[in-house]
Amino acid sequence: MYQGACTDVSNTKLLKKQTYFITSDGYFSTMNILVIDDSKLMRKMVSAIIADGGHTPFTASGAERGLQILEKAAIDLIFMDVEMPKMNGFELTRLIRKQKQSWIPIIFLTASTEDAHLTRGIESGGDDYIMKPINSVVLDAKIKAMARIVNMKKELDAANRSLLQLSNIDALTGIMNRRGFNESLKRDWKNHTREKKEISIVFLDIDNFKAFNDNYGHQRGDECLKQFSTVINSQLKRPLDTLARYGGEEFVILLPNTALDGAALIGLKIIDALANAKIPHQFSPVAPYLTASMGITSSRFSAKNETVLVQQADQAVYKAKKQGRNRYSVYEPKLQEEGIGRLMNQSPS
Ligand SMILES: [Mg+2]
Repeated sequence: MYQGACTDVSNTKLLKKQTYFITSDGYFSTMNILVIDDSKLMRKMVSAIIADGGHTPFTASGAERGLQILEKAAIDLIFMDVEMPKMNGFELTRLIRKQKQSWIPIIFLTASTEDAHLTRGIESGGDDYIMKPINSVVLDAKIKAMARIVNMKKELDAANRSLLQLSNIDALTGIMNRRGFNESLKRDWKNHTREKKEISIVFLDIDNFKAFNDNYGHQRGDECLKQFSTVINSQLKRPLDTLARYGGEEFVILLPNTALDGAALIGLKIIDALANAKIPHQFSPVAPYLTASMGITSSRFSAKNETVLVQQADQAVYKAKKQGRNRYSVYEPKLQEEGIGRLMNQSPS
C-alpha cells in the first residue's frame, strides 16, 4: 500500500491506484485534482505538474464540464482559471460553493496582478491564487500545502464522526444512552413499518434504587448500575438487540424482528440472571438482592409510532410495580382505553 519517496516514482499510472505515499515530511493522501482552464496548453502543463507530484489530474475546459466532474469524482482540490469565456472563475467558484456541501480548496490561476482582483477571488470563495505564467515550483509547493490541509480536514471529519458516536454512549455504564436509543428506535421502527416484522421493547426499572443510594451511597449506586447493565447485557445474544440506559435507574432493551413472546422470554431470563447475580440490596423489601420491574410491549398492539411504543412499555412497568415488583408485565391495550395508565396515576413510592 505504501510507496517510497514520491520523487523516486516516475510511473504516474501506477500512482493512481495508491492511497498514500511517504514524503520527507510524512504521509499524505494522493489527491484528485481538478484543473478548470479554457487553455488547452495550460491544462496540459498544470496536469503534468500534478501527476509528477503523485496526484491524479482531472481537466475541464469550462464550467459545464467542471461541474460534471465534480458530481462524479471525489475531487480534493481545484485549480481554477479566472479568465474564461461564458462563466469566469469567480462566478464558477461562487456556484460550486453554493452547490457543494463539503469544502474543497480552490486555487485561482490568474494573469491579473491587481489587488482588487485578488480580493474578489477570495471573496467569491477561493482559498489562494497563483500568478500566470505558472511557476512549477510554486504550484508544487501549493499542492503540498493544500494536501496537508485536506488531510487535516479528513482527520477532523473522522474525529467528529467518532465524537458523535461517543455522544450516544452513557459515560457511566458504557452502553447506549437515551439519545442513542431514540436514534436506534427511530431507525428500527422505520424498518419495521417497511418490512412488517414485529419489534419489541423491554423497559426496566431497578426496584427500590433510591433506598440503595440512600443507604449504600452514590458511589456504590454507580457501581450497582454498572453491574446491573452487565448482567442484563449478558442476556442479549443477538447483535441487533440493544440495551440502553434511559436515565437514572431506568433501562430499555430494543428488540428488532422480535415477537412479543421472544421479548417475554428475555424478561424471564433477566429475572433469573438477577437472582443468580445476587447484587446485594438489603434495603429492598422485594428481595435481598437487586431486582427490576419490567414492562414489555411490541408493535402488535398497533402503536402508531415509536413514541407510543415507549409509552406502552412504560405503562406496563407501572403495572409490574403495582403487582409486587421483580417481575415483568406485558402491555394491555385495555389499560389505556380505560385510562388507568401511568399518566392518570401517581407514581409508586
Ligand atoms: Mg483563461
